Amino acid sequence: MIIGIDLGTTNSAAAIWRDGQSVLVPNALGDLLTPSAVSIADDGSVLVGMAARERQSTHPRDTVTAFKRYIGTQQTVKLGKRSFDAEDLSALVLRSLKADVEAFTGEAVTGAVITVPAYFNDRQRKATRRAGEMAGLDVRRLVNEPTAAALAYGIQSREQEPFLVFDLGGGTFDVSIVEVFDGIVEVRASSGDNRLGGEDFNERMVELARRTLDPAGKLAKADPVALGELLRAAAERARRALTDADSTEFSLVWNGEVFATPVTADAFEEAAQPLLQRLRDPVLRSLRDSDIRVDALSEIVLVGGSTRMPVVRRAMTRMFGRFPNTSVHPDHAVALGAAVQAGLLARDSALDEVRLTDVCPFTLGIEHAEADGRGGYRTGLFSPIIDRNTPIPTSRSKVYSTIADNQREIRFGIYQGESREVAGNVRLGELRVQVPLKPAGQVSAECRFTYDSSGLLEVDISVPSANITRNLVIMDETDTLTEAQIAERRAALAALKVHPREESENVAVLARAQRCYENFLGVQREQVSHWITLFEQVLERQDPRAIKEARDQLVLSLDSLEGERFL
Ligand code: ADP
Ligand code: MG
Repeated sequence: MIIGIDLGTTNSAAAIWRDGQSVLVPNALGDLLTPSAVSIADDGSVLVGMAARERQSTHPRDTVTAFKRYIGTQQTVKLGKRSFDAEDLSALVLRSLKADVEAFTGEAVTGAVITVPAYFNDRQRKATRRAGEMAGLDVRRLVNEPTAAALAYGIQSREQEPFLVFDLGGGTFDVSIVEVFDGIVEVRASSGDNRLGGEDFNERMVELARRTLDPAGKLAKADPVALGELLRAAAERARRALTDADSTEFSLVWNGEVFATPVTADAFEEAAQPLLQRLRDPVLRSLRDSDIRVDALSEIVLVGGSTRMPVVRRAMTRMFGRFPNTSVHPDHAVALGAAVQAGLLARDSALDEVRLTDVCPFTLGIEHAEADGRGGYRTGLFSPIIDRNTPIPTSRSKVYSTIADNQREIRFGIYQGESREVAGNVRLGELRVQVPLKPAGQVSAECRFTYDSSGLLEVDISVPSANITRNLVIMDETDTLTEAQIAERRAALAALKVHPREESENVAVLARAQRCYENFLGVQREQVSHWITLFEQVLERQDPRAIKEARDQLVLSLDSLEGERFL
């Protein structure tokens, strides 16, 4: 079976195509969203999802979140005794989602369609693909998140005019302009800001609240890492409260003392202004690139948890001069769309009508030199071959000539990006061809780029006069693992002890209780400690029914202690 996966910065979700429609699959806790969080428990085993998210404030050094922000880089984090890169961590999340689908359907999951932000570069895409492989999934396709959302939307109502998908999640912002015509979904342009999301709004909220939160300066004594987590959690809670109310209280407990300050929606809106401003640019860019005017858009579709914020909705209403469409559940659309694509790949007959075209999300080209008008050359310039937002698959070529007399070789440095100088772009690889010695400009080479729908770039060079051809499928060495290396890394991940899935609810509740123990003091802390002891006693008896009862009771108790759950 092939599944659809939204591998998010904050939350991930899996969906399947069944009986002619996309269905989200609940995880072991019964939730449709699984936090993209990994933690190493005290016994060395790996926790994924809510149990890990719950440990973020109690075990910040053993827990990691938002690792999608550095996927495709060499950055690693140390958890317990091992270090992990974002690819390993993503593989752990993917493996957990795979297990959830297998438990839910009773079928083996073999393949997956995984979504990525439209702005992911080639490295980030390859890393995501490898994460899937390490999780034991055959990654059948990577789909841009807004494209997936568009697919979820497009299948419900077949529009004939372009519409805009606006996806603001926990850490990334994507804008796409999409058209559906006769069952063909076409992405006309995509743009975004991969450093903008709910977490940035949390930071503004913290800045705002801190002005009045702690007049006596007592929090200066707190451990900065732990305090950072407490502030972030308080901001998240306050921000969500402002989604449904005009004012709320920003509050946290530190060292047995409550620190609280009121926050109004108006004050928050003002504090968030700089972020709201930053929503404009990608929107304008995508309109320009697709050559579509705002008033030609039939709909504005909201995706991503952060579009629930009224300040964001108001900013959009002002920007577009109308109300956004909310018919797709903003948290689910991407995974649902990925499952539509999975259904397409499985050639479900109900989907015969639907096809998908996508665009290349960035410009691809080579390095070239230009005469500087003084007898020399200016090197390091970028010569685009495939422009961003070209529909894919695509194949384009350009012809280049030698610039020096008796030049022996032409070098094609291959880059992606939007900068005029290659130094500002991402280097993907290089091809060199030996050429016959001739006066400058008399040897020319054709450079052809072919970009397919899963983001693989093939470069062909030909020098017709000398009958030379060269070909390269882009995978730069630092970034490429052989089959054997992937197998090795997969085995290393498989060797990690993972908490048994059937215990995950217990583990998540215990992690939450532990966090409460650390956050409260005095009588309340004693009470939590007592609840934990009781629950552990029931766990030891290994009677599933008794465990479930005790767990439900513990959740109720923690809810009454903490108020609403917000993680
Ligand atoms: P990602 O795609 O980055 O994984 P999601 O689309 O799941 O992210 O969105 C997560 C973000 O949505 C978080 O920053 C969270 O604060 C925000 N969010 C979820 N629900 C609400 C709400 N009711 N009000 C405000 N923000 C919310
Ligand atoms: Mg998302």
